[in-house]
Amino acid sequence: MACSSFPATSFAKRLEGKVALITGGASGIGESTARLFARHGAKVVIADVQSELGHSVAEKIQSESGQPVSYVQCDVSKDSDVENAVNTAVSMHGKLDIMFNNAGITGNYDPSISSVEYEDFKKVIDINLYGGLIGAKHAARVMIPERKGCILFTSSFASVCYGGIPHAYTASKHAIVGITKNLAVELGKHGIRVNCISPGGIPTPLAAKTMGDVDLKTVQEAFMGISNLKGVPVDANDVAEAALYLGSEESKFVSGLNMIVDGGFCLTNSGLTQIDH
Ligand code: NAD
Repeated sequence: MACSSFPATSFAKRLEGKVALITGGASGIGESTARLFARHGAKVVIADVQSELGHSVAEKIQSESGQPVSYVQCDVSKDSDVENAVNTAVSMHGKLDIMFNNAGITGNYDPSISSVEYEDFKKVIDINLYGGLIGAKHAARVMIPERKGCILFTSSFASVCYGGIPHAYTASKHAIVGITKNLAVELGKHGIRVNCISPGGIPTPLAAKTMGDVDLKTVQEAFMGISNLKGVPVDANDVAEAALYLGSEESKFVSGLNMIVDGGFCLTNSGLTQIDH
């Protein structure tokens, strides 16, 4: 989904001089965030497993924004890959201000308990949870000596709303909220803020796959159809805007937050609004 495209000079840049590493930055929410961060003056390193796509997305965003945007191959479930991605960002740009642990998978998209299998469960936890945790570990390693930094995670509306979502995915996203809060407490004394974002249904390749590989427009229309907030065309940039706020100085006193970006979807039950009063 395209985000609005103001010329990079026509507004106040909110991440001027910052360095951001974004996992899962080759696609969907990560790609939109990389684009928005670069438009706001950040130097961006995209870390992903989709090498060809990652390189081309980085090149495109760099030419659109005029900011340095690069790609590093990184499987977030491998400690040495994440260590290398963080070290790459620091050696290229001298520091790391924002670590966005965003990479994620759904795993087998059968929500029934009978479908639970160890290999699938382990893979989802390894990427969605352990991947985020080691992202925080290596970011903290370079942020603690600087006594500042911002660690962000992508959780999901599955952390606050239930049904029709695979158990492994739900477990991983709940745990992300838990480690966000645990880390916010641990790292606060070093001046490091830790927050997470829980998107509602967002039209991305991940969501399209769960609907049988339909196109993004169809996904967007489906999410708008079940949305609580009517008439608002949701896209990945809506999550990127939340990441921009949490990564910028405007949120300098915000830590330990699970920011839900779902247009109020999880606040209610459609059955309630259908009762005749
Ligand atoms: P996406 O598939 O478009 O992007 C995810 C990216 O993560 C891809 O580029 C993929 O290559 C990368 N990735 C997957 N495994 C990886 C690994 N082991 N190491 C490094 N990178 C890896 O999907 P998206 O919707 O943009 O997902 C981003 C995050 O948002 C995920 O954590 C997802 O769970 C979360 N989320 C998405 C939605 C939604 O409706 N799209 C809703 C809630 C939460």
